[in-house]
Amino acid sequence: MREYGLGTKAVQAGYRPGNGEPRQIPIIQSTTFKYDTSEDMGKLFDLEASGYFYSRLQNPTNDHVAAKIAELEGGKAAMLTSSGQAATFMAIFNICECGDHIVASSSIYGGTFNLISVTLKKMGITSTFVSPDCTEEELEAAMLDNTKLVFGETIANPALTVLDIEKFAKAAHAHGVPLMVDNTFPTPVNCRPIEWGADIVTHSTTKYMDGHGACLGGVIVDAGKFDWMAHADKYPGLCTPDESYHGITYAEKFGNEGAFITKCTSQLMRDFGCIQSPQHAFILNLGLESLHVRMPRHVENGQAVAEFLEAHPQVAFVNYPGLPSNKYYEVAQKYLPKGGCGVVSFELKGGRPAAEKFMKSLKLAAIETHVADARTCCLNPATSTHRQMTDEQLREAGIPAGLVRISCGLEDREDLIADLAQALEQI
Ligand SMILES: *Cc1c(COP(=O)(O)O)cnc(C)c1O
Repeated sequence: MREYGLGTKAVQAGYRPGNGEPRQIPIIQSTTFKYDTSEDMGKLFDLEASGYFYSRLQNPTNDHVAAKIAELEGGKAAMLTSSGQAATFMAIFNICECGDHIVASSSIYGGTFNLISVTLKKMGITSTFVSPDCTEEELEAAMLDNTKLVFGETIANPALTVLDIEKFAKAAHAHGVPLMVDNTFPTPVNCRPIEWGADIVTHSTTKYMDGHGACLGGVIVDAGKFDWMAHADKYPGLCTPDESYHGITYAEKFGNEGAFITKCTSQLMRDFGCIQSPQHAFILNLGLESLHVRMPRHVENGQAVAEFLEAHPQVAFVNYPGLPSNKYYEVAQKYLPKGGCGVVSFELKGGRPAAEKFMKSLKLAAIETHVADARTCCLNPATSTHRQMTDEQLREAGIPAGLVRISCGLEDREDLIADLAQALEQI
């Protein structure tokens, strides 16, 4: 039988009700699960049987939704986390420990940059950042003997650089380590990094997957392709007995397809407990059911707004990978043939005062730090998130004072463009 298309998976994958069972995924609002005998429960603790015992580690609602996302990404196993940050942290910490090293693209989400460069460093995990545009030689040179992971973001938030996934995968695999890709902005509707060689995919489901600005969440998807045992010396956590789980060796017992997520669930979720609530998983699933319908509209609106801004005399520069003038246009055509996302950034010629006046004059686009939901929103870093920096410092950081980031929602594009046009006129 033909494999179901992406839209069918978005609507139906991950949950198949039996006869007379609820059509919608039930919210299992229970911290614990009941067993008839201690032996039954003991088998779960020994990972001899699969089942649920405590919602800090696993919950059936979450697992249905995670299974859907695994299918959408073309992965073998997945788990939900309480936020995108939790997903990134847990996915990295599942294979990196004190003394290990990460090679990461320098163009990644600020929260991830801090996590890797500051917090993981305190835990003894060091890193080297490379430009996403680096050559294969530069990438190779960044790899050290203790490198355990290569990390990048398909479309970086907010820089909007596009990752050459094959180049990064090739370098990672040549060194015997996996490639992890944050695929938040394109979602699996527009790019599936596993098809290009990624081994682990993470998301902030807070963005397009939920898509309505309703709940925080994250997900980790494992492609199930990385051969941990072939690199057993690098990954003792997966390839040697876990004394905290009765001497189980995850890679042996659960194979390439199950080891990563099983370890992350039974060991890290047990110890850190940053699981998504089943209520949030249910809301996330409502978003997923229309993801394939919403993403093309975000892209259409993003493209139309980018083209309008590029032609406007008050605008100095527009950054959107769907514009032929963009540095990443060719790479985007390869990895994102259906478009990337609805986020566009642009610089106003009038600098800080122009940006202030412009933002104040918007009627539809709201000022928010959020991106990637149904309602269009805008941010001027110079007067908000980066307001402690001078114009000079901002320019050096590649965030000129007149820079505005707009996340195009699902409204009518004529209305969005009219709103931008009237706000530009006020400058
Ligand atoms: C927002 C975001 C994150 C962090 O996700 P939270 O859900 O806010 O914790 C990570 N990566 C990217 C690309 C993001 O946009």
